[in-house]
Amino acid sequence: MQVWKFGGTSVGKPERMHSIRNLVTATTGRKIVVLSALSGTTNALISISESAKANNVAEVEQKIADLKAHYDAFIKELYQTEAGLQKGQQVVESEFSYIRSVAKTRPFTLKQDKEMVAQGEIMSTQMFEAYMQEQGESSVLIPALDFMRIDADGEPELEVIEQLLTDMLAPNADKQVIVTQGFICRNPRGEVDNLKRGGSDYTASLIGGAIRAEEVQIWTDIDGMHNNDPRIVKRTFPIRELNFEEAAELAYFGAKILHPSTITPAKLRGVPVRLKNTMEPEAFGTLIANQTTDREIKAIAAKDGITAIYIHSTRMLNAFGFLKKVFDIFEKYKTPVDMITTSEVSVAVTIDNDTHLEAITAELREFADLEEHDHNLSIICVVGEFKADNEGIALKVFDAMKHIPIRMISYGASEHNLSILVWTKDKAAALNALNERLFYYEDAMKDIFSAQ
Ligand code: ADP
Ligand code: ASP
Ligand code: MG
Repeated sequence: MQVWKFGGTSVGKPERMHSIRNLVTATTGRKIVVLSALSGTTNALISISESAKANNVAEVEQKIADLKAHYDAFIKELYQTEAGLQKGQQVVESEFSYIRSVAKTRPFTLKQDKEMVAQGEIMSTQMFEAYMQEQGESSVLIPALDFMRIDADGEPELEVIEQLLTDMLAPNADKQVIVTQGFICRNPRGEVDNLKRGGSDYTASLIGGAIRAEEVQIWTDIDGMHNNDPRIVKRTFPIRELNFEEAAELAYFGAKILHPSTITPAKLRGVPVRLKNTMEPEAFGTLIANQTTDREIKAIAAKDGITAIYIHSTRMLNAFGFLKKVFDIFEKYKTPVDMITTSEVSVAVTIDNDTHLEAITAELREFADLEEHDHNLSIICVVGEFKADNEGIALKVFDAMKHIPIRMISYGASEHNLSILVWTKDKAAALNALNERLFYYEDAMKDIFSAQ
C-alpha cells in the first residue's frame, strides 16, 4: 500500500480535486490519501479564532461568511450531479454551523482554537470523499481523530497509531482508496490537537511508517526538493535523489516543502518518500531513501526566527558539569538547541522558540555570565555528503559569504551539514551568493576557459 498526501494548493481548486481523483485511480494498488485543507483555509480559520478571542462578533460573522462563500462556489464546480452537489451542500452547511458554534464558545481557549483550525482538513476530506462516491469510486473516509495520537509532549505515538490504524483498515480491505485528514490528531486529554503548521506531510509519513507502506508520496506545487529556496533564489533546480539524513537536515533547517519532522518515521521504518508535483505529474520529483547521488553539495536551506544566547562560565568551560548544567535548563523548558559553538570559557547556543527565554536566561545567570542575546537571526544550512577527507567545501562556502557578517559556524557534527548563523536581513544575499558559488561557479569557469 502507498500513502499519497496532497497539500493545500493541490486541493485548492475544484479542477485540482478532479485531477487528484484521476491521479489516484490511474495507477493500480491501494492507497491511503491524506489531504490538507484548501489553500488559505487554515489561515482563515486562525483569523476567525483571533476575532473570536477578541470578542469581535461582527468581524467573526464577516470572516465566516467570506469563507463560506468560497466553499459554496467551490462545491458548485466540484460535483457533476445534483445528488453530488446536495451531499456537498450538506457537508458545507453542517461544517459552517459547527464553525459558528465554536466561534461563539466562551471562554474561547486553546481548546476552541484547535477545534477551529482542524475544520479545514475535516471539510476538504469530506468534500473529496463525497466526490469520489459521486464518481462511483471504491473509496472510504477514515477520521484521523480516531487514530492519530500525540503524547503530553506533542510527540506522535507511533505504536498506538499503528495499532489503531491497523484495526480501522481491516474492515476496509476491499476499498482501493482510503481518505483521511492530514495535520489533525488527538492529545492525551482526548482533545482535538494538531501536528503544527504544515503538519499534513508529517501525518503522511507517520501513516507510512505505521503501516510500513511501500512508499509515501508528497504531492505539492513544485517538482520536488530544489537545491535552494525558490521563493528567494532565482536559479534553482530539483534534486533527483537525497538520502534520509540529507532530507531531514533540509526539512529541519527550513526547506518549507517538508514539515521538519516528516523524515523521522519514514527513516525509522525504511519507507521511501517521493516528492511530486500535482501540476506536472510526469516530472521525476525527488526520491528520498537510503541512496544518494555523488554530488558533494546537494542543497541549501534557511531557517528564520533564531535567537542566539551567549553564556560565559565564571570558571573554565571544561570545569566538570558546566555544559550539563546548561543543557539541563534547556531540557527543563523543553526548548531544543539548534546550533552550539564553544571556546575555552564560553558557549553560544541558538534556539528557534523563545517562549521560555526569560526563564531560561534567569536560571543560567545563577551560575554563568550572559551577554545580551541576539534576535532576528537565520541559520543557513548547506547540506551534502561531506566525507571527513573532503577538501575545499568550507573554502567555497566562506568564499561565497565573504561580504556577509557571520555570527556562528557549525561543521563536523554530521557528514551532512554545515551551518552558518547570519542576520536575517542578510539571508537573501547569503542564499543567492552561495547558490552561484556552489552550484554554478565551476560551470561558469569551465565555459570561460573553453571559450579562450
Ligand atoms: P503544500 O501546501 O503542498 O504543503 P507548501 O507550500 O507547504 O506546499 O510547500 C511547497 C512550497 O515550498 C513550494 O511552493 C516552495 O515555494 C517552497 N519551498 C521552500 N524551499 C523549497 C525547496 N528547497 N524546494 C522546493 N520547494 C521549496
Ligand atoms: N492545513 C495545515 C496548514 O496549513 C496543514 C498542512 O497544510 O500541512 O498548516
Ligand atoms: Mg506544506
